Amino acid sequence: MKIYKGNILFAQTPEKITQIPNGYIVVDDDGKVAEVCSDLKGEYGNVAITDFGDKLLIPGFVDVHMHSSQFAIRGIGYDDPSLDRIVEFLHPIEKQYQNLEYAKKVNEEVVRTLKENGTTRAVMMSATDIPATKDMFQKLKESGIGAYIGKMNSDYTMSQDEEAGETTEVSQRETLEFIEWAMGQSNLAKPIVSPEFVPCCTKETLKYLGDLAQKYNLPVQSHMSGSEAGNIDEIMSRFPEQKTYADIYNSNGLFGQTPTVIAHCVETSAEEKAMMRQKGVFLAHCPVPYMNVPSPKIFPVSEELQKGMHIGLGSDMGGGHLLDMAKIIVAAMQLSKRLFSGQSLSFPQAFYLATKGGGKFFGKVGSFEPGYAFDCLVIDDSKINHLIPYTLQERLQRYIYVGTPQNIEKRFVEGKELVV
Ligand code: FE
Repeated sequence: MKIYKGNILFAQTPEKITQIPNGYIVVDDDGKVAEVCSDLKGEYGNVAITDFGDKLLIPGFVDVHMHSSQFAIRGIGYDDPSLDRIVEFLHPIEKQYQNLEYAKKVNEEVVRTLKENGTTRAVMMSATDIPATKDMFQKLKESGIGAYIGKMNSDYTMSQDEEAGETTEVSQRETLEFIEWAMGQSNLAKPIVSPEFVPCCTKETLKYLGDLAQKYNLPVQSHMSGSEAGNIDEIMSRFPEQKTYADIYNSNGLFGQTPTVIAHCVETSAEEKAMMRQKGVFLAHCPVPYMNVPSPKIFPVSEELQKGMHIGLGSDMGGGHLLDMAKIIVAAMQLSKRLFSGQSLSFPQAFYLATKGGGKFFGKVGSFEPGYAFDCLVIDDSKINHLIPYTLQERLQRYIYVGTPQNIEKRFVEGKELVV
């Protein structure tokens, strides 16, 4: 048992941030929160209290969508107004990831950067390559970060000029190999079924992956109605029996039959959004790439959150250049201001998305309510100028807006401190 003391902030709901000045978090031997309070009521005998003084204790950040193989191209190629970046940067860098020595270096940097930025849980799509994906899994397992990682499936192309990333036979066989290898290795690092998206998957592979997810009770990640939405008619023409893009995933067992997180969804219809809510499908809202690449629409996050959709925030590295979830919270709020016909995100809503909103995909994660995993960041904001008196929530908001990863003094995942 451990007891931590400090200024505690967490969002139990999107409406409000709970604040406990000089409060206590009692953590049991399984790394779960036993009690959170302003005064210790339980009998804890001579358990030592770790006192963080005036520092802030907040839940660790959760990144529900990113691509490990794209780490080397974050920050470059966004000045092209078309989607040629995919051909010019993305496809070559994903090919390079097949070189295991290169991939090992990338994976090491990805894990180091996640830890540095206070990301304590991540949902990650690797490339199609198995050795690089296994190495990433291994490194995540050793890091102590909680993560789902999947071998990406990409065995179809709609392009006349390019070949598919892999054959159908290899795609399916290697996915099974990775899953059987990874399952049960760790309580924190786990495999996830990862079709890239409908335009890059054969019908057979979508069906195979849905069956696999259900057979092994594995979660699913993918993309929907993002950059490919301009080709929606062409996509739908391959599936004449389905009415919507969401129906394609759903009819293959890839839409909420097991926990599912889908990135983007900017062009989803009202019917598809209702289906996401009803089936508990998570949206990975990735605000940064929508400002880096042309994006015709903005997802109405605040509105859907209030209607009960499960939503978390994603970096979508390398469509997005940032892995700092604090700055992604800021981006989500800024982008929502461009939604002239809808409501913008409040600070509690945006903070909720990056903690408990995305954390739900992992179970009881992203809050300090009893029973939740003790995933915690200790924030030392003393060097962010305190020129006027601030409330605790204002201090948190200032750290999110003007702080840096250097303000994060410690990181915990399920009660264990991460080594950075
Ligand atoms: Fe993505």
